[in-house]
Amino acid sequence: MAIAREADEKTLSLTLNGHEVQAAPGETVLQVARRNGVEIPTLCHDDRLEPYGACRLCLVEIEGARGAVPACATKVGAGMVVQTHSDKIRKLRKFVLELLLSNHPLDCPVCEAAGDCRLQDYAYEYEVNMSPWGWKPLDFPTRDDHPNVARNPNRCILCGRCVRICRDVMGIGCWGFTDRGYDTIIDTPYNLPLQDVGCVSCGQCISTCPVGALNHKRSRYAARHWQTEKTKTICPYCGVGCELTVHTAREKLVRVTAQVGSGVNNGNLCVKGRFGMDFVNSEERLRTPLVRDEEGNLVPTTWEVALDRIEQNFKRIKAESGGKAFATLASAKCTNEENYLLQKFTRAVLGTNNIDHCARL
Ligand code: SF4
Ligand code: SF4
Ligand code: SF4
Repeated sequence: MAIAREADEKTLSLTLNGHEVQAAPGETVLQVARRNGVEIPTLCHDDRLEPYGACRLCLVEIEGARGAVPACATKVGAGMVVQTHSDKIRKLRKFVLELLLSNHPLDCPVCEAAGDCRLQDYAYEYEVNMSPWGWKPLDFPTRDDHPNVARNPNRCILCGRCVRICRDVMGIGCWGFTDRGYDTIIDTPYNLPLQDVGCVSCGQCISTCPVGALNHKRSRYAARHWQTEKTKTICPYCGVGCELTVHTAREKLVRVTAQVGSGVNNGNLCVKGRFGMDFVNSEERLRTPLVRDEEGNLVPTTWEVALDRIEQNFKRIKAESGGKAFATLASAKCTNEENYLLQKFTRAVLGTNNIDHCARL
């Protein structure tokens, strides 16, 4: 009985769209809905950030509550009765989307986010047939002063996600809201170039932007979101082992992203993982091994010839000078298994303990 009571205290029951569901105390309506397969739209929410309740798109009806409440910032309670997609709620969401579109540039044909844009998705889902108040697109000047982050303030919906992720996840704070009302814009302090306000080029702000206001600058016009093949892999740069999604199109690596809720990095990457993969497309990459000919020139050869040459030289050096003539350097870019094999080969075959690792110090 004691065990049963303890389990009861860790869950509570509520009614979600007419079905009884279980939740843990402290969970939000949004979390419980998503876990039960109910998709509530959000623009300002990112699981990496604290709930913000700014976009008003996740409004839901709760029996007994005054007005609609934001699902992202409302904790569930025992016995709660929640409606997430009533006619009233759908109308409210449509109204919010109409307001957003009333000054949005609607330049989807040339927007990098097309096909991967929450505003586009929801406008379609809620059948927003343009704004009833007319259309007056924003016309702020665009800035192009950063090597990796492309900005277009006219597409910004002021959700604040970039501001919060740079400040709360990265601990930097490059972005902030400036001016008021229709003139509100996301900008750097004193309108300084982004590199001059401490930006470390992690691209987290791009990763969280739900529209096309912040983009991967170096992959502009490379391929549409739906044209790329997405492959999950592990970053080759360091031992943290962040999970990446590599986007490729026409046999070229187009961009790198990371999925929130997956891998050790939970959607976060550093500059190397997110922007440091251009080398993959380089025409100068070695595609075959090279060995020196008798004149000392490097010439292409097969792996069989190259490995045979290495074996002969290892044997010769060991015979002439013994194992102490060798040293090997392991790399954080390799897997644990590869590094294990290297040390085994160094000790058991080359005959030396001269082995080190680039990440040791
Ligand atoms: S790239 Fe990273 S550091 Fe630079 S503004 Fe964006 S979140 Fe901040
Ligand atoms: S730039 Fe993107 S993430 Fe930042 S406030 Fe605007 S829409 Fe939101
Ligand atoms: S993204 Fe950065 S931190 Fe993550 S594995 Fe790659 S280099 Fe390391």
